[in-house]
Amino acid sequence: MSANIIDGKAFAADLRERVAAAVAEAQSAHGLTPGLAVVLVGDDPASQVYVRNKKKMTEAVGMHSFEHLLPADISQDTLLALVETLNQDPAVHGILVQLPLPTHINEQAIINAIDPAKDVDGFHVVNTGKLVTGQADALVSCTPLGCLMLIGHAYSLPPPAVRIGGGHSETAAAPHLPPPREREEERTALDLSGKHAVVIGRSNIVGKPMAQLLVNHNATVTICNSRTRDIKALCAQADILVAAVGRPEMVKADWVKNGAVVIDVGINRTDAGKLIGDVAFEEVSAKASAITPVPGGVGPMTIACLLRNTLQAACAAHHLTFTL
Ligand code: NAP
Repeated sequence: MSANIIDGKAFAADLRERVAAAVAEAQSAHGLTPGLAVVLVGDDPASQVYVRNKKKMTEAVGMHSFEHLLPADISQDTLLALVETLNQDPAVHGILVQLPLPTHINEQAIINAIDPAKDVDGFHVVNTGKLVTGQADALVSCTPLGCLMLIGHAYSLPPPAVRIGGGHSETAAAPHLPPPREREEERTALDLSGKHAVVIGRSNIVGKPMAQLLVNHNATVTICNSRTRDIKALCAQADILVAAVGRPEMVKADWVKNGAVVIDVGINRTDAGKLIGDVAFEEVSAKASAITPVPGGVGPMTIACLLRNTLQAACAAHHLTFTL
């Protein structure tokens, strides 16, 4: 078998386009321009590039972008005060504080201070709690949300549509929107009943929300960590295998069941400067039915889902319905 390569770059570009169309609709029908505030503390070059990309893509979909670049020695209290200002600002619908933060700042305290309704990273306990309890208005961590969409794509689901409506203008839906019954069916279409999913990694940012999303979509889920015994045998049972570890090419062909869908979240840089994932791409491609490459797989989905979440938060703030 030779796997279908899941083109995350193209999928993410398409998602951003559809977010942009929905933003245009929100502006014209409801006078709403979603706004995303990104806070970067310190001058880490990789984070600076990431934040610049976010700004560019936020503006490209028609949203307002607010950047706050702060010195590395800023105090925790000053950062908390900025978060509170952004919480109160009606033009800001999403707040993202770029992690990691300098060690003198308590990351959890900063995450906890963000208004859950503006927590577009989905890291606040209110949103993780909503995810666990299956509440549809949860803001879900962007990387696992992107992975879930790619899993749906691997199982040949149509790409998710971004739709808004309701609020003060129930009739403002764009002409391309299908009728409500069809919308609801599409929203709940990803059914992983009977599939065994194995997630390697249990971080709050990727592994745990990924596993929870898979549970919510009826998969039977095993979560592995660094203490797991015989991880290879567990992975070899997986219909869906998600690697979110940070260990270059840890997952080899003999870890993978024939026909599995393999999602590689890992980003590792070789000594030569090349980006590689947690999965040995070439050899695993020969066994998987579908696989994400690194780069160009999961990575581009993260920012696209951040924009999608910002739209969700803006719609919620204005009592507009939103589906994707
Ligand atoms: P993390 O917080 O370091 O978590 C890594 C997880 O992997 C931990 O749960 C750890 O287990 C587990 N692990 C480590 N060694 C293992 C082993 N030998 N066997 C089994 N499990 C092992 O990392 P993260 O934030 O989740 O990120 C994971 C990877 O995804 C990194 O490469 C990161 O760069 C990448 N990433 C990519 C994106 C994207 O947009 N594409 C976004 C976020 C992260 P313990 O809990 O037992 O220590």
